[in-house]
Amino acid sequence: MAHQVKTRFAPSPTGQLHLGHAFSALVAARLGDGYHLRIDDVDHTRCRPEFTTQIYEDLSFLGLDWTGEPTLQSYRLAAYADALRQLQDMDLVYPCYLTRAELAAVLSAPQEAPLATDTALPRDEQARRAEQGIAPAWRLRTDEALRRAGEISWIDVRAGTSRPVDMTPHGDVVVARRDIGTSYHLSVVIDDAMDGVNLVTRGADLEDSTAVHRLLQALLGLPTPAYYHHDLVRDAGGTRLAKRSQSQAIRELRANGLGATDILSRMPDLTETDHILAIYEKLTN
Ligand code: GLU
Repeated sequence: MAHQVKTRFAPSPTGQLHLGHAFSALVAARLGDGYHLRIDDVDHTRCRPEFTTQIYEDLSFLGLDWTGEPTLQSYRLAAYADALRQLQDMDLVYPCYLTRAELAAVLSAPQEAPLATDTALPRDEQARRAEQGIAPAWRLRTDEALRRAGEISWIDVRAGTSRPVDMTPHGDVVVARRDIGTSYHLSVVIDDAMDGVNLVTRGADLEDSTAVHRLLQALLGLPTPAYYHHDLVRDAGGTRLAKRSQSQAIRELRANGLGATDILSRMPDLTETDHILAIYEKLTN
């Protein structure tokens, strides 16, 4: 028997919702028969509450209502801190005191191992910065983490296959930034587990992050959803929409007198999603 698919749409309130976001919500709603709405507002340096309000309004205007209560990352900081503590207890992360400029210099030096930064700062300098009360970022000991996780892969529903976890592009990825105490990667794996998401649907621009998420799930003993990365919505010139694509912002289209149906008719077609559920069932049963 087909089991219930639980999807989510997770916008960051750092700007206005545009057609690309609305398409992600539509995909999640189609595949999940409704979707969970999560507001990714953990980065207080970039998020604004008025954008959160606008997200609710724009989605409602489009008839893309979510199911249940939305969750906000800013209310889950304790859960992210627990997860970081777990990784610290397992000795799978190390503090990184490099400043942004020092990091850039390390990464541009060709002789450095790609993105492994634990040796970049002499021990005594690390200790000095710790004594000054400078908060470090926390980086994953990726080689050791992969060794402990064993052979792991993630389910790519679009490709219809499992893909091995390749951490090469990420190196010792930051799992907790010094300014927010967590990271995009750590927060979303905790969220997806807490929300019981079993099919993550999101744009193809986030596909590279999935290896990191799968590795963190393995280390933290979390359930593993399957993943569907959909095509990005592009403008007439073929450029993917971004926060600065003001002309495609739902708010702007509404202000120009477009109704929900007009706006939804500007989305790419959804025919691909018809096959996705069948593949999901095959791969997860
Ligand atoms: N909040 C992220 C974004 O707006 C999406 C997170 C995710 O789907 O994993 O790009």
